[in-house]
Amino acid sequence: MGHVFGRSNAQLPRAVRGEGCYIHDAEGRVYLDGSGGAAVSCLGHSDPDVRAAIHAQLDQLAFAHTGFFTSEAAESLADLLVEHAPEGIDRVYLLSGGSESVEAAIKLARQYFLETGQPQRHRVIARRQSYHGNTLGALAAGGNAWRREKYAPLLVETSHIAPCYEYRLREEGESAEAYGLRAADELEAEIQRLGAESVMAFIAEPVVGATAGAVPAVEGYFKRIREICDRHGVLLILDEVMCGMGRTGTLFACEQDGVSPDIVTIAKGLGAGYMPIGAMLCTAQIYEAIAEGSGAFQHGHTYHGHPLAAAAGRAVLTAILGRNLLPQVRARGAYLQAALTDTLGQHPHVGDIRGRGLFRGVELVADRDAKTPFDPALKINAKVKRFAMDEGLICYPAGGTLDGKHGDHVLLAPPFIISEEQIGELVGKLSRAIDRAIA
Ligand code: PMP
Repeated sequence: MGHVFGRSNAQLPRAVRGEGCYIHDAEGRVYLDGSGGAAVSCLGHSDPDVRAAIHAQLDQLAFAHTGFFTSEAAESLADLLVEHAPEGIDRVYLLSGGSESVEAAIKLARQYFLETGQPQRHRVIARRQSYHGNTLGALAAGGNAWRREKYAPLLVETSHIAPCYEYRLREEGESAEAYGLRAADELEAEIQRLGAESVMAFIAEPVVGATAGAVPAVEGYFKRIREICDRHGVLLILDEVMCGMGRTGTLFACEQDGVSPDIVTIAKGLGAGYMPIGAMLCTAQIYEAIAEGSGAFQHGHTYHGHPLAAAAGRAVLTAILGRNLLPQVRARGAYLQAALTDTLGQHPHVGDIRGRGLFRGVELVADRDAKTPFDPALKINAKVKRFAMDEGLICYPAGGTLDGKHGDHVLLAPPFIISEEQIGELVGKLSRAIDRAIA
C-alpha cells in the first residue's frame, strides 16, 4: 500500500490494467467486474470512444475555471442530459462526484426557499437506512445510523421515515404494495408533525443501491410521494447517483416510476470511471426563481464543470444512447436475474434476489424461510467479498442494511457490455464465494 491512506487496512491487490469487463492486478490475476466497482464502470474498462474523447479534450483544453469561462464540453454535455432528462428538468450543474451533487442539491433547495420568501423551510426528510454521500450535508441527509452517529450533531436537520421496500416492516398478511403505500404516507405524517412550513425537501433513491441491494419501490410509491410533496410545497430530490445513467434499463431510474423530480443527482455511471464527475439537475422553476432573485446559485467548486470530466461524461452518454445500450441493459438484466434465480433461488441462505436492469441484489440470510438475518459478528458480507476476489470476481458487499448492524447483501452492477457467457461466469463465481463464506 505504500503511503496511500485508504479506507481499509487490508492488503489489497494492486490494479494495473482494465479491459472490457475485467481488471488485472500486478500479480497477473484477473477479476470479472461484477459490480462496476460500485455501479461505476457502466461501459467496462478501456472503452476506445471515451479514451479518444478524453485525449482529444486534453489536447485542446484541460482546464478553464468556471468563474471565467464556460466550455463546449460542459455545454454540450448539459444539453444532451436535458434532452434525455425527466420531464421538467431544464438545467444542469456539473460537479465532481455523487456527494458533491447531493450537497449541491440540498443547498439549491435551501437557496430556492430563501429567495422565494420561505426562509423557514430548512428541514430535509429522508428514509431510514438510506445513503446519500459522505460529505457532511449529504451524510446528514442519509439515514444510516452507524455512519451518522460519530458526527452528530449534523449540519442539516433531517428526519427519517420508513423505507418503502423493507419486507420485514410489513404487517401480518400485508402485501408489498400496501406496505409501500403505507410507507409513502409516513411522509405525509412526518410533514404534518414537523409543520410543512419548515420542510424544504424529501430525498430518496428510486432504486436503493448500496444500503439495501438494488431494491425498487413498489408501483405507485413515488407517485404518492410526488403528490404529498406537491400538496405541501416540498421539493422532491431523487438521488440517482447509483441507479441513474441507464443502470436500471432507462436513462433515469425514475422514468419507470412515472414521476419527475424537482432536483435529481447523478454521478457514478456518468463518468463511468474514466473521470470523476457528477451532476445536479433541476427544473426551470427553481433555476428561474434564483436567476430572478439573487441572480446566481451561491455554490461552486474549483473543478466543477471540468472540461476533461465533461468530455468523458459526454462520450459516456453518447455511447449509452448511440450504441442502443438501454435495451441491452434490460435484456441482460433479465438474463442475470434468471441466472441468479436458477443457481441461488433455492439456496438455504438466499432470502431474496431483486433489482432492475443490470442492478441486482442478492440478500443473504441465516434462515431462508424466516428471513432471519445473520449475526453481524459473522461478517458474512465481508467474507463474500473476500472469497469472491479469491474466485476472481468483484462484487459489492454491504452489511448493516437493516438497522445499521444486521442485514447482508451482495450488490451486482456489471458493465452494460457484459455477455451472457460472462453473466454465467459471474453467477458461478458468486455462488462459490457465498458457499465458502457461509460454510
Ligand atoms: N448517493 C448515492 C445513492 C450513492 O450510492 C453514493 C455513493 N455510493 C453517493 C450518493 C455518493 O457518491 P460519491 O461516492 O461519488 O461521493
